[in-house]
Amino acid sequence: MSFRSGRHFLQLPGPTNVPDRVLRAMDRPTIDHRGSEFADLVQGILRDLAETFGGAEHVFIYPASASGAWEAALVNTLSPGDRVLACVNGFFADKWRAVAERLGLDVEVLEGEWRRAVDPDALRTRLERDPDAAIKAVMVVHNETSTGITTPVPQIRGAIDAVGHGALLMVDAVSSLASLPYRHRAWNVDVTVAGSQKGLMLPPGLSFTAVSPRALELHRAARLPRAYWDWSSLLEFNANGFFPYTPATNLLFGLREALAMLHEEGSERTIARHHRLAEATRRAVGGWRLDLYGMLAEELSDTVTAVLMPEGSDAEAFRRTVLDRFDMSLGTGLGPLKGRVVRIGHLGDFNDLMLLGTLAGIEMGLRCTDVPFASGGIQAAMDYLSTTRE
Ligand code: PLP
Repeated sequence: MSFRSGRHFLQLPGPTNVPDRVLRAMDRPTIDHRGSEFADLVQGILRDLAETFGGAEHVFIYPASASGAWEAALVNTLSPGDRVLACVNGFFADKWRAVAERLGLDVEVLEGEWRRAVDPDALRTRLERDPDAAIKAVMVVHNETSTGITTPVPQIRGAIDAVGHGALLMVDAVSSLASLPYRHRAWNVDVTVAGSQKGLMLPPGLSFTAVSPRALELHRAARLPRAYWDWSSLLEFNANGFFPYTPATNLLFGLREALAMLHEEGSERTIARHHRLAEATRRAVGGWRLDLYGMLAEELSDTVTAVLMPEGSDAEAFRRTVLDRFDMSLGTGLGPLKGRVVRIGHLGDFNDLMLLGTLAGIEMGLRCTDVPFASGGIQAAMDYLSTTRE
């Protein structure tokens, strides 16, 4: 590899661009993870982190990717053979389902349309047919990163409550936390799973489970084998600002800085910024006369836009060209969407001109690969951005 000047554009829907402030915060010697400076660091983080989730009884931090937190959510609350209902409307929801299966849970799938949000009516109907409450947990992905579709969590909670069903609500907020509105406590979510490498603007390597009092209570009786992921031992150590193993200290320095940055911006502005940049992206796609993968405007994600490439155009060849020619990474199509969909990540540390650079790279890539499109996407985005504010 020879030197390429300028910054690489990392326009994946995670990992996202890591801001200089976070990079600098991590660029320091690792400290003793059993000393008082470390305890202060962790106690401060635990206080501020819960706010990012919209309030939580506790947020457990793991030195693991978000897939680890998927597993932690399940092993800490369930027992062998318990039935769980996995709402599957995309690649990541399906991967979480597979984790539950491998743990020996009795997994039932509520099959959804990949181009739509999870259907709360279908969920309610299924739960109505479970009068003995055999279903112990409902698993939902808030923002399906593979398809660019957001499921309204309050509607999912509403479907469970409408039947008075006692299943735990587990939500994957990996690509929505700190970017889309999220209210763990007010929405009465029992376990929220998240990761560091998306809206939190950190490198990959940390993941989280935020829990409700009920999840903690059920945890005490849950019997799936657990060791590394065990909330009880984490709680015991966290009470004094420590971990029962060697933590990812420098990522925690970065997390403290990222939380400070989010606090400075304020969650309403963070959410408004993501919405506005997403809207500009959608207008660009419309201007190019390309199709969005999602079917309904109100279900489209404000953190990632999935573009369905025209019949006969290879999404992977397009992505490769954009990378080779313009040094920009776009998200690949996952699972059955490989070759058909390109995903534009517009979350985390991102602003108007970064978006316009991204869109320019896409439009030039479309030209270079002979994808049929109309010019006018960038103009549509500029018209929108120059006439609106957060
Ligand atoms: N859930 C969602 C919605 C995701 O987008 C991802 C990764 O992109 C994951 C879970 C898995 O996260 P990780 O790759 O950090 O294990």
